Amino acid sequence: MSVMQTPGADGRFGQFGGQYVPETLVPACQELERAFSEAWNDALFREELNHLLKTYAGRPSILTECHNLGRELGIRLFLKREDLNHTGSHKINNVLGQALLAKRMGKKRIVAETGAGQHGVASATAAALLGLECKVFMGAVDMERQELNVFRMRLLGAEVVPAQSGSRTLKDAVNEAMRDWVATVESTHYCLGSVMGPHPYPYMVRQFHRVIGDEAREQCREALGGDDPDVVVACVGGGSNAIGIFSGFVDTRARLIGVEPAGGAAVGRGVPGVVHGMKSYLMQDEVGQVQEAHSISAGLDYPGVGPEHSYLSEIGRAEYPSVTDTEVIDGFTLLARSEGIIPALECAHALAWIKRAAPEMQGQVVLMNLSGRGDKDVAQMMDVLGKS
Ligand SMILES: *Cc1c(COP(=O)(O)O)cnc(C)c1O
Repeated sequence: MSVMQTPGADGRFGQFGGQYVPETLVPACQELERAFSEAWNDALFREELNHLLKTYAGRPSILTECHNLGRELGIRLFLKREDLNHTGSHKINNVLGQALLAKRMGKKRIVAETGAGQHGVASATAAALLGLECKVFMGAVDMERQELNVFRMRLLGAEVVPAQSGSRTLKDAVNEAMRDWVATVESTHYCLGSVMGPHPYPYMVRQFHRVIGDEAREQCREALGGDDPDVVVACVGGGSNAIGIFSGFVDTRARLIGVEPAGGAAVGRGVPGVVHGMKSYLMQDEVGQVQEAHSISAGLDYPGVGPEHSYLSEIGRAEYPSVTDTEVIDGFTLLARSEGIIPALECAHALAWIKRAAPEMQGQVVLMNLSGRGDKDVAQMMDVLGKS
């Protein structure tokens, strides 16, 4: 199957993507597109980024075979350990790339949106490291729910601003971050947190995360005597960790599986629509209003999905099943008990699907992206499971 891996001149993967932004933002998107393209083709920029990934983020992340869980499920299971990165997830790959790019563009300041707070913390981290001012928009409701991350961002020197519009959650924080960017575009870069938004963001953020897939492909070949895995699995919120690992395997015979929460199944249950500057699958009501997503994992509460995923789904290259909160809790405890690794609730979605689908994958090699560690979710799980 021939798969389009670079968006066309219209900034689209197939019919998805594009640049649905107010006129005032078009020049900013074009400037970013140019700057990213130049930087990505500049060996010095790539070297500088790789150096940070190695000496600050801790890359390459390792590959771990889960012998116990693999035996239990009748498969060979490998984890790509993004949980071991600095700040505990894959998000650092993207923010280091964008912060470095912002500096190269002569910007003094970044703005970012955050839902559960993880991207806000990562952005504040990169800004502290590279000497940029950082302002993070966060839904007022989310700020109450995630007060530890709000404090972390402030510790890192960022300003956290409550988004008071709409449902006062992630989608409103994105709107307000875009509004700030329109007004301050001379001095400011908008550091978007996933493979979404107007072109070039979905492509640019994918390129910053493809290091996950590139490393994993090498590591799998070494572990499997030159073979690729049969199945590659990752959880999908906006879709950045999934597209990062998929990009290493899209040209192999591996099945690509992106697991969504049942309450936020944008690809599985959504319809094509326009939100946050892009055309993509989206959960909306009968009159086209964007619906709230609900998941046990605040990090997956996004009603849309990146346009490249919509494209991969439409052409049948990737599959997007969903799992319930109950299955996710089961996946969370399963990895902890069998392998001594507490996963983030987001990637417990991928584990939940693997457990469910294992009977049909007997003897196969499954690679899962462990996008983050579960420390941040332990208190919530203590409430769900009880203290004893
Ligand atoms: C933010 C986050 C996600 C969801 O974002 P994607 O863009 O879909 O990857 C998944 N896992 C972890 C650990 C996260 O922090």
